[in-house]
Amino acid sequence: MPGNSTIAVHADRDIHPSRAVAPPIYQTATFSAEDAETFAQAAVDPRGTNFYTRFGNPNHAQAAAVVAELEGTEAAMVTASGMAAITTAVLAVVSAGDHVIGQQSTYGGTASVLQNLLPRLGVSTTLVDQTDPEAFAQALTPRTRLILVETPSNPLLQITDLRAVAELARAHGALTLADNTFATPLNQRPVDFGIDLVMHSATKYLNGHSDVSAGALAGPAEILDRIWDTSLLTGATLGPVDAWLLLRGIRTLPLRMPRHNENGLALARALHEHPAVATVHYPGLVTHPQHKLALDQMSGYGGVLSVEFAGGFETADAFLGHLRYPRRSASLGGVESLAVHPASMWRGMLDEEQIAAAVPPGLIRLAAGTEDTSDLVADVLAAADAART
Ligand SMILES: *Cc1c(COP(=O)(O)O)cnc(C)c1O
Repeated sequence: MPGNSTIAVHADRDIHPSRAVAPPIYQTATFSAEDAETFAQAAVDPRGTNFYTRFGNPNHAQAAAVVAELEGTEAAMVTASGMAAITTAVLAVVSAGDHVIGQQSTYGGTASVLQNLLPRLGVSTTLVDQTDPEAFAQALTPRTRLILVETPSNPLLQITDLRAVAELARAHGALTLADNTFATPLNQRPVDFGIDLVMHSATKYLNGHSDVSAGALAGPAEILDRIWDTSLLTGATLGPVDAWLLLRGIRTLPLRMPRHNENGLALARALHEHPAVATVHYPGLVTHPQHKLALDQMSGYGGVLSVEFAGGFETADAFLGHLRYPRRSASLGGVESLAVHPASMWRGMLDEEQIAAAVPPGLIRLAAGTEDTSDLVADVLAAADAART
């Protein structure tokens, strides 16, 4: 089996091969066939590449081939965003009367699927404390069809015991879906712990350059066939150019991740020591309450950390204002460092009570890019100094 860097460069080579070294962009909405039989077959070929771009396009198949091989799954598919991947996957596997378990600490869009969309469709949901495998066990009902996990979680960097959840789900005939956006297959492969399906906001590390919205799903072909069927109805198709950009981004994922890991750890260690900081949430720190579990299931800890300032909302806001390199922006995983203050960003979306339940007021989420480690460390320390005075 080749290594990750080789996979990222070559795994798509046999899909629509041509003499072009860089894959051509198939900027077409539809494809033609020689005869009726070929045409009819192309229409039902799951994630095919020869019928109609909503059904599949060579640029989709190429990006998906690399994702599948990196995640160690039989198949993969790409979607127009991370949310398209989650919503399509969930709608494909649950029906009215079913029950879904999710996490209390999870991406906002995922939380909304669990708290608003699914209940409206007659699917009940339970959100549990992911740090406690027992909480997943207690939430199980005879109708539990799916367990949706996210580890490390956004924005608190809590860890889910993938092996424990996968075992539990398997024993109850439920499916597991892991959001692997923060870890990437370079730092964690959920299927190695028995998880059925993996999803990504490919907008983040997989693409890595903050210039594409995309999603990815990886897992057994049989389950992906069902999700593909539903994707024809949700229609969240990734444009061919964006699929091409995604593939071009993934080529260097194995080169970028070690730097993100290094920068994340360096920022976490530096800020952990700073007198203005109450807590740093980063699974790579020995002080993280689940560091042992992180060590067991991850090989690196990523570029995202969250920092709680002792001075609360105002200090956190001042820190953000004093940063030179990380810009105030709601994403992560790109080569450029970004930072957000969730308690202020969410003011338009949630009421005060919901914000208080989700995050401490003085919490900043930092996404370390691939800049020089010493420049980023000096920048955050200077901003923390300035925020305190
Ligand atoms: C950004 C993000 C998503 C949503 O992805 P989009 O590409 O923005 O739709 C889902 N999960 C996590 C963990 C994320 O960070």
